[in-house]
Amino acid sequence: MIRENLEQVEENIRKACARSGRDRGDVKLIAVSKTKPVEMLREAYDAGCRDFGENKVQELTAKYEQMPKDIRWHMIGHLQRNKVKYIVGKVYLIHSVDSLRLAEEISREAVRQNVTVSVLVEVNVAGEESKFGTTDAEAADLVAEIAKLPNILVKGLMTIAPYVDFSEENRLYFAKLKQIYVDIIQKNIDNVCMEELSMGMTGDYETAIEEGATYIRIGTGIFGERDYTQ
Ligand SMILES: *Cc1c(COP(=O)(O)O)cnc(C)c1O
Repeated sequence: MIRENLEQVEENIRKACARSGRDRGDVKLIAVSKTKPVEMLREAYDAGCRDFGENKVQELTAKYEQMPKDIRWHMIGHLQRNKVKYIVGKVYLIHSVDSLRLAEEISREAVRQNVTVSVLVEVNVAGEESKFGTTDAEAADLVAEIAKLPNILVKGLMTIAPYVDFSEENRLYFAKLKQIYVDIIQKNIDNVCMEELSMGMTGDYETAIEEGATYIRIGTGIFGERDYTQ
């Protein structure tokens, strides 16, 4: 089932790229495996996935131990400062940096381990109460502040768009994140290399690709519905 789902997703990615004149190689797929057992992650791995996304530190580190070492792990969930030490040195990219205090903790731990950590700044473009992320207005300042810290590198922006019935409804939010990204690039901030836009999930990734996503994060579309009752 996972292999077939991946083929379907792949076809949709290709079509969205073709529609918007983008190269397939410019869009990277993250298999969001939260709540799913490692057997299912292995199936995705065997079908070619090397980027996996998790939203809980404990689950990420447990799966990290059990899965092959050539996987790029993406932390996509809200991160508490006291858990930073468990994932630095293991994660490839932290998508959910939403405060200077969190960035400072990541920087401190990265210095301690003598590594550099790549991060994205999470922006709450729709201004939803329930979501984490900096505001549109504060995003550029936060990026500039993080850029001054040692051993942490801002690579781009991430957003979690609202849950909607029609992906078209999120187009303006994806366009907004892209605009904030372009504005930050034009500021030419030292030590910032804006390359990545992490946006789009199962319900809206094709629209996100059309609006410039470089990372799409897909869970349900690959692994099926999640069961949170256990
Ligand atoms: C769960 C999750 C996803 C994947 O959601 P689906 O709708 O299942 O594709 C993507 N991004 C984040 C931040 C998530 O928490």
